[in-house]
Order: sequence, then C-alpha cells, then structure tokens
Amino acid sequence: MMELKGKKVLVVGLGKSGLAAALFLRRKGALVTVSDVRSAESLANDIPALLEEGIMVEAGGHGLLTFRRQDLIVVSPGVPLDTQELVQVRNLGLPVIGELELAARFLKGKSVAITGSNGKTTTTTLLGEILSDSGLRTLVCGNIGVPVIGLIDESTPDTWSVLEVSSFQLESTVEFHPNIAVILNITPDHLDRHGSFENYALAKERIFAAQDANDFTVLNADNTRAAEAAARTKASVYWFSIEHEVEQGAWLESGYVVYRAVGDSAARGAEIEQVMPLKGIPLKGAHNVENVLAAVVAARLAGVPGETIRRAVEKFQAVEHRLEYVATINGVEYYNDSKATNVDATAKAIAAFSSGIHLILGGKDKNSDYRLLSQLLRDRVSAVYTIGSAAQKIESHLRGLVSLNSCETLEKAVNAAASAARPGEVVLLAPACSSFDQFENYEQRGRAFKQLVSQRQEWK
Ligand code: ADP
Repeated sequence: MMELKGKKVLVVGLGKSGLAAALFLRRKGALVTVSDVRSAESLANDIPALLEEGIMVEAGGHGLLTFRRQDLIVVSPGVPLDTQELVQVRNLGLPVIGELELAARFLKGKSVAITGSNGKTTTTTLLGEILSDSGLRTLVCGNIGVPVIGLIDESTPDTWSVLEVSSFQLESTVEFHPNIAVILNITPDHLDRHGSFENYALAKERIFAAQDANDFTVLNADNTRAAEAAARTKASVYWFSIEHEVEQGAWLESGYVVYRAVGDSAARGAEIEQVMPLKGIPLKGAHNVENVLAAVVAARLAGVPGETIRRAVEKFQAVEHRLEYVATINGVEYYNDSKATNVDATAKAIAAFSSGIHLILGGKDKNSDYRLLSQLLRDRVSAVYTIGSAAQKIESHLRGLVSLNSCETLEKAVNAAASAARPGEVVLLAPACSSFDQFENYEQRGRAFKQLVSQRQEWK
C-alpha cells in the first residue's frame, strides 16, 4: 500500500472515476489538485464539493507547471496517455497511474477482472450475481459505472471484487493483479485511440501482466487474438469455447454447459461436471453463451458450486441496451442493442436471429469496416436503415448487398423499419457506431428507441 499523506497528487480528468479518485486521495491525506480541459462552467456541478473538501481545481486546460509540481499523477481513463503534458512529466520521472491502478493498491480481498471488446458488462454483472448468490461478500465495479476507488472502504479481506476493466484503464496499470483475469474476446474497437489493433490487443493483455503461477487467466478459445495471449501469461490458463472441448474450463456437450478442472496433480480426464442445460440460458445469441461460459469458469475457480451457478444464470435478465427485448407489435419483435457500438457486437446481434431482420445502423463512425457484416447481411437481413454521420460510409460499404434506406434520424428509421417489417420479423437497433453525433451516449439512444417503439404500441 502506498503512503499518500502529505503527497501532492494531481488527478487529470474529472469524470466519474476522477471525482471518486480525488475524494479518496483527499481522505487519505493527500494534497489534491484536479485538472480538466473542460471549462469551469461545464464542471460547475462538481467544483463546489471538491473545494469544500480542500481539493484545488484547474479548469479550462492543463498548466504544465501544475503537472510538474506533483509527486503522483492519476489519469482518468478518458484521457489519452500521449497528451503533451503527460509525456513531459513521465520524461521527468513522475509516476503516472490510472484510477484502477490506484484502487488496486488499496482494495482488500480477492478479485476477478473481466476485459474484452464486447460482453464485459454482461459477464461482470452475471458473475457478480453468481458470487453474491453463493453467499460470498461481493463488490461489482470498474468500467461498469461504479469506480473501484469509491468502494475501497467497503472491501474486506474476504471480499470478492468483480471488476469490469477497459483497455483504456489497463493502459496505465503497473501492479494491478487480479486473482482471476478474464479476456472475453479481442476484436477491432477503439482504433481511433489505440492506433492499431495490436496496440489495442496488448493493452488488453495487461490484465494478466502482474499475475503469477498462483493466479488464473481465463481465455476464449474461439477468439484467435484472445487465445494467443495464453503464450504470454504466467498464470494457469483456463479456457471456454462454444465450439469444442477444452482441456480445462467450460464448453458445450450434448446440450449442456460442462466444466472440467484438471488441476496440477490430477490425471488428465478429470471429471466433467454438467453445470446446466444450454436451454436454461435465458439470454439471446451465441455470444451470450460465451459470456455465460466465461462466468462459469470464473465462478468455479472462485469455488462456487455448479448448482448455485445454474440457478443464478437461469434467472439472469439481459442488461439494459444489450440485445434487450422491447416489445412485439403486430407480430414484429423489437430489440434494443444500442450498446452494439462496434462491428463485432452488431455481427453477434444479427447472428442471434435467423432471418427477416430490419437493422438500424449508424451514428458516429469509429474508423470501422462495415464490409465485415456482408455475409450476415446477405443471409439474414431484409433491409438496413442508416442514421447519423456514419450513414454515407456505411452505405458505400454495403451498396449492392442489401436494401438500404437513408433515414438520418432514429425516429425516421424506426418508422420506416416498422412499416416494412412483416409479422415474424424483427426490428433491431444494433448500430455498430458510437452515439455521440446525435445523442449524449448509447443509453440515451437506447431509451429514445424504446420510447419510439412504445409510441407505436400506443397507436396500435
Ligand atoms: P461491454 O461492457 O464490453 O461493452 P456489454 O455486455 O455491455 O459489453 O455488451 C456490449 C455489446 O456487445 C452489446 O451490443 C452486446 O449485445 C454485445 N455483446 C455482449 N457480449 C458479447 C460477446 N461475448 N461477443 C460479442 N458481442 C457481445
């Protein structure tokens, strides 16, 4: 644990986790300054509380002097590590860490960390429910919207923390050391920030960088880039696969989710446990089966009995905006997958339905290749409805493959899709883009979609 009393610490970026970090540091007796590029007006909600705690605030930009004066710099995940100020202070030898790293040094008990391009929130939420149903003292936090640093005081030596961690958070870790590290998948995302797919993949691999032979790394055997990581972890590797049997971990066999732990001493062929029937999984899509398998492995490694896992999975509901069922109107089903903000998540959403999909695509482009959807579109999608600033690019990538309708807004897209869809078909919002061109965030976009659908329900 590091000594913070009397230390000068700068928190860069005043998001949810920056705010929580600043308050934590202050409680530990540090002399805290917060610096944010946003104006004092846009930070007005948070500034009074900070000042009241004796935390200094620098708004509207970063002063290099403010940075140089510190003993420690804590960066928020939204702040790129290559900003001029951060590069300079690192060159001066000042330690620069993220909120996750700071939190990890104080968090008591054991932890499971979950990363991946997609499925983090779903798997983290599910695993949190499984562990807490089994009677373990459980905290669920991280990228899921609850900063880890805010829960330090609640952690005890017998707590299990389930941490959702993003590539941005992992970029600035040093000693972060989960007992169980899960990589769900690595597919292209956030290339705008990480520069290349390989850089992004390497940031994800930092999840196990500090692990040793007493720890566990859980990997998706079906995802090429995630599986490659096995060669670089020092921890014991467990696998999950929806395609084939694995040596140790979870897979599907004769309609069942099964699990096997070979262990160090046990002979090969250790007993295969039937955890639950595949049809007991209430979530749609093969990708959610992957999430369940990952949670099964982590839960078994944490010592939860199969029966408790089965019961927790069977009552689990889709997290809002993740392939969430909205309504059936005139025989047409509506699904909200607003969180599908990259091409892979959209591909998984399409694959969850066999045909007759009316797909709403678009928003803010993240340097994505929509042609990756070609085969799925041809096989399963009746028409695409484009919205937002990425519309032109999407249309140019998909022209000739599928019927395209330029709708500009979500409202027009829902109306057009609803008028075209026939009974038995599906209207799916799985936009493959972020929402920031027309909405504040994906939650607002998902709620707008649900609202538009419920208006149609009222007119029915
Ligand atoms: P994350 O926290 O990683 O963004 P979520 O659980 O919030 O993950 O899901 C994000 C999006 O990815 C949603 O559209 C969801 O339907 C989809 N998704 C969930 N699990 C997976 C998976 N294992 N592989 C691909 N897509 C997934």
